[in-house]
Amino acid sequence: MVPRKITYRMYPTKQQAERLLELLGLHQRVYNTALEERIRMYRDSAQSLGFAAQCKGLTAWRKQCEALAAVNAQSLQVTLKRLDLAYAAFFRRVKAGETAGFPRFKAVERFSGWGYKTHGDGWRLHAGDKMQHGHVRLSGVGMIKLRGKARTPGEVKTAEVQHKGGKWYLSVTVECEPQRAGGTVAMGMDWGLETFATVCSGENDTLSVANPRFLDKPQRQKLKLLQQAVSRKKNKCTNNRRKSVALLSAESRRIADRRKDFLHKTSANLVKQYGLIATEQLSVKNMTANGGEYKKGLNRSILDTAPSTFLNLLKTKAEEAGSLWVEVPTRQVKPSQTCHRCGIQRKKLLSERTHRCSCGASCSRDENAARVMLNWALVGNVTGQELSEVRSRGSLPTLIQETPPIAALAV
Ligand SMILES: [Zn+2]
Repeated sequence: MVPRKITYRMYPTKQQAERLLELLGLHQRVYNTALEERIRMYRDSAQSLGFAAQCKGLTAWRKQCEALAAVNAQSLQVTLKRLDLAYAAFFRRVKAGETAGFPRFKAVERFSGWGYKTHGDGWRLHAGDKMQHGHVRLSGVGMIKLRGKARTPGEVKTAEVQHKGGKWYLSVTVECEPQRAGGTVAMGMDWGLETFATVCSGENDTLSVANPRFLDKPQRQKLKLLQQAVSRKKNKCTNNRRKSVALLSAESRRIADRRKDFLHKTSANLVKQYGLIATEQLSVKNMTANGGEYKKGLNRSILDTAPSTFLNLLKTKAEEAGSLWVEVPTRQVKPSQTCHRCGIQRKKLLSERTHRCSCGASCSRDENAARVMLNWALVGNVTGQELSEVRSRGSLPTLIQETPPIAALAV
């Protein structure tokens, strides 16, 4: 079974919205109080306060506080669990020698929401046909109207209420059957201009997908001629002009189709082979926005390969197959500047296509980046020291750096 998330926009009435804000404030208070308790406990007695102890404390607190007693108990435990996870992530970062931000007190504006662990306990979804639109009943709030739809309907498991930019959302986790067969091998993938994709899995396993230039020089020339033919015909009502316009749009469509076909086939093939895909979070906007004149040529090649479309297709297909999708935080990991073998960082110019390191590592720039990402995804560090150990166990570790679905929390 594959977990998927469906996000609905909630449309509460004015009264319901007020009640939702009250609930948000209560969850925020529980979070901050629990954090304060942990800090005080450690300061006063050098002892750490765990999740289980805090759950007990919560039960006592609910007995004294009427407002808290009215809030669904499981959802309050989920809030405590979130703090527990923030602590765990903090200590993991400390251990890994990374910059470790201590869990912070949160203002209500920065408090994102709360969650429910079991369908039917504190919330019930009444979705429409194929899980499109419908209502949700939240305990203490009532029936709230929903808009949104599932790409794949499934068995309803958990939910999160989210408050973003003054709007309310319900993110529902469902479990569904995988819709395509996925591979089992873990890989890291770097995306580039020289090579469309560089995929690394094992020590000597590197796969390169060449960059198809759909807009090469003759192709651009052809488009230009067709465009000129249209603009030469000033009178917009003639048949001749209509013909030229049709020729131009047919040619543009042909290029777009070829590109789409390539992106679909490439992503499908990768998902068929690999069960874990680690790649960079790419922001094409950032890559193309600030280059100015000098980067124009580069920009065109970037847009020509349609990276964001490709990554979206790959991600969707990976989800359909139930594969693991790991987005490596570029700023933190710096895949292209880091050596996959020794972890030393050195700034490379964009023109440097080879990775050579004092430790003896030598491979293409893209291959190095792909390996760094794979290592990070598998063992949480860039050099992958414990990689062989992980591999020998024959299973993929669960070091995925994202909020785990509530179903996975052992409350
Ligand atoms: Zn090195």
